[in-house]
Amino acid sequence: MTEPMTDARRARIMADLAPVAVTDDPVTVKKRSRDFFWYSPLLNAQLRRTFGDLVASPATRQELAHCLSVAWQHDLPVVLRGGGTGNYGQAVPLRGGLIIETTGMNRVLETGAGFVRVEAGALMADINAALQPEGYELAMFPSTQDIATIGGFVAGGSAGIGSVSNGPLRQNGNIIRISALSVSENPQEHVFDGEDVLGIHHAWGINGAITEVTMRTVPTQDWIGCMAGFASYEQCYAAGYALACADDDAIGRKLCSVVDARIAGYFPRLREHVPQDQHLLVTLVPRAHLAAFRALTEARGGTVHLAIDDAERTALKLPHVFEFAYNHTTLQVLKADRSATYQQIGVPDPGDAARVAAMRDRQGDEVWPHHEFTRWDGAVICADLPIIWYSTPERLAEINATYAADGFTVYDAHICAIEGNHMQPDFRHLAWKKRMDPQGLLNPGKSRAWEKVRHLSADEIEALTTLDGV
Ligand SMILES: Cc1cc2nc3c(=O)[nH]c(=O)nc-3n(C[C@H](O)[C@H](O)[C@H](O)COP(=O)(O)OP(=O)(O)OC[C@H]3O[C@@H](n4cnc5c(N)ncnc54)[C@H](O)[C@@H]3O)c2cc1C
Repeated sequence: MTEPMTDARRARIMADLAPVAVTDDPVTVKKRSRDFFWYSPLLNAQLRRTFGDLVASPATRQELAHCLSVAWQHDLPVVLRGGGTGNYGQAVPLRGGLIIETTGMNRVLETGAGFVRVEAGALMADINAALQPEGYELAMFPSTQDIATIGGFVAGGSAGIGSVSNGPLRQNGNIIRISALSVSENPQEHVFDGEDVLGIHHAWGINGAITEVTMRTVPTQDWIGCMAGFASYEQCYAAGYALACADDDAIGRKLCSVVDARIAGYFPRLREHVPQDQHLLVTLVPRAHLAAFRALTEARGGTVHLAIDDAERTALKLPHVFEFAYNHTTLQVLKADRSATYQQIGVPDPGDAARVAAMRDRQGDEVWPHHEFTRWDGAVICADLPIIWYSTPERLAEINATYAADGFTVYDAHICAIEGNHMQPDFRHLAWKKRMDPQGLLNPGKSRAWEKVRHLSADEIEALTTLDGV
């Protein structure tokens, strides 16, 4: 049982954390205790009054190690935090304690053909800016690249802009190396290479404090941000699927999003550029493939309304097209109406546009689809991030059940735990937690399975395939 946070205890911890910058200013602590969980009315009710006690801002790996050592000595819960853009309360301290903000550890350390080595707190937009003059870019990055860190993406994210060509983060070779510190009196750095990166990727910071990552990069291209309009969602989706499947040499693309016209109606900044009553195919294609993209669109009954490079976009004062994709789509709607929420749905057969359109009809006015295509080891996969007009938890459950009844998978975005619906415990993560954080101080409360296996050895945990009988 952790000691309560009295004034005297707080003062002792702050003194021990010196010379690392630390604050207990209540406004700062409250702000740094939040992420984008408020997308979910259920998580908002659960987490909005859940705060840490202190925020430390290490500038170096040594300072981060010092913070972890102090936390260990005081038996203090620790939550690592990058930009705080996670959607499920990933970075919310459920048991108080120390928030360690990594954004001071933000150096680009090394670049080369096909890789970049960076400190965990570097913002992805800054990494891409550093790579650009060398003719490279990150193989994928989230639409939050301006404020999200690479460490937070590797620890909490899954895929992003680029994944429709290069796969999700977990595809072999996309994350080349992760270095992470343990929580102990003398924190030790462990290096995860090759397939072993999956031992720490997407573990929500429960099993190590990531200090540095090496990521795959790809040659950058003269990208054109495009939006094509369609009268029918089914046609628009079919065009998106064709684009996602296209041969890279015929039409390369680093984004392939299909957005329902009712959602596009919430994009006021696009009003002068795309018709508000059309379903949108949102993409980035190389300039050399623009004609082929137009032909693909027109062959499926669509029209390309917007095709601009970065200079033209800046002159028009428009955001990147990817700010109308991924979870930015939800944000655009939430900016106008906080009664919206969203869900994460796996599409069972990405090539079956009729089935997707039938589901859209079945869900009616309450649920507006938005599909994202990615590739995983070459195979096209598709996820729906629909806008849902929220009324009650019971109605949300009915909407989920409508998806499930037709074989669509609901990856519930309204649960603040790593092991949510369809997410079985990852015993590699938990075995590494036992090795790197045996006291269970890192992001406590986020893994339900940890509480059941923490009494076992790391090797025993790694050998598990189920929690049955544990
Ligand atoms: C509008 C919007 C759009 C989004 N689009 C995408 C998208 O395209 N693709 C996608 O995958 N996600 C997306 N997300 C989710 C989120 O933006 C990304 O996952 C992002 O990369 C998280 O980075 P962050 O620095 O904000 O991490 P945070 O939110 O600060 O942290 C995320 C998790 O990582 C842990 N963590 C952070 N730093 C470290 C570290 N150094 N060591 C160990 N653990 C650490 C935290 O404890 C937390 O559990 C989106 C979210 C929003 C709000």
